[in-house]
Amino acid sequence: MKLIFLGPPNSGKGTYAKRIAERTKTTYISSSGLFRDAADRGMEFGKKAMEYINLGRPVPNEMAIGVLIERLNQPDCANGFIFDTPYNADQAKEIDKNEKTKIDVAINVTVPEEILIRRGASRVACKKCGTTYNLLTVPPKKEGVCDKCDGELYQREDDKKEKIIIRLEEYRIRAGPLEEYYKNTNRLEEVKWDKELIPEGGTDVPIEDMIKQVMDILERLKSFQIK
Ligand SMILES: [Zn+2]
Repeated sequence: MKLIFLGPPNSGKGTYAKRIAERTKTTYISSSGLFRDAADRGMEFGKKAMEYINLGRPVPNEMAIGVLIERLNQPDCANGFIFDTPYNADQAKEIDKNEKTKIDVAINVTVPEEILIRRGASRVACKKCGTTYNLLTVPPKKEGVCDKCDGELYQREDDKKEKIIIRLEEYRIRAGPLEEYYKNTNRLEEVKWDKELIPEGGTDVPIEDMIKQVMDILERLKSFQIK
């Protein structure tokens, strides 16, 4: 089974992708992880790609596509992989050109905007050590102070409401054509952050509920054996 995950920032798609890869004994590949590894090994293309990633910018297709396709053709991907995630429809189309890497299904994680905003608003990070806290579910012992290092807690720029709205807008512009592409080829499936699944006083749908939604889809598609 060859799978990709789509979803806005903070939808948890990377976490779900990793967990599903463990459950299905397939290889998990993240594009940023791929470039980070290459950069750590001192490879020039990796270092160049990280310059884009660190600025929050997309790695240009002419740099990214060759590297992605080479990675997805490695032996550990032969029994299936979970890739998180093609950046645009051009990348998706290139990956589909080869039978060995052609994607079977795209799982789209949808989260209501108000929930993403609430999650951001409840999250604070330590200025010194970077540890994050959720004020509703895992608050620090002392208000405004890090449990680990006594550093000051603050709300990250990316977690502010205005920033979340802008990032979602950017995401929609970028991901819209990607969703269309998989939808038009009958390969788009959806898992949802239903409000009813969020426990009282919490901000997140429990991971297990989301994993179950994905596993139900995979079972329905019956394209591989679930162990
Ligand atoms: Zn700290």
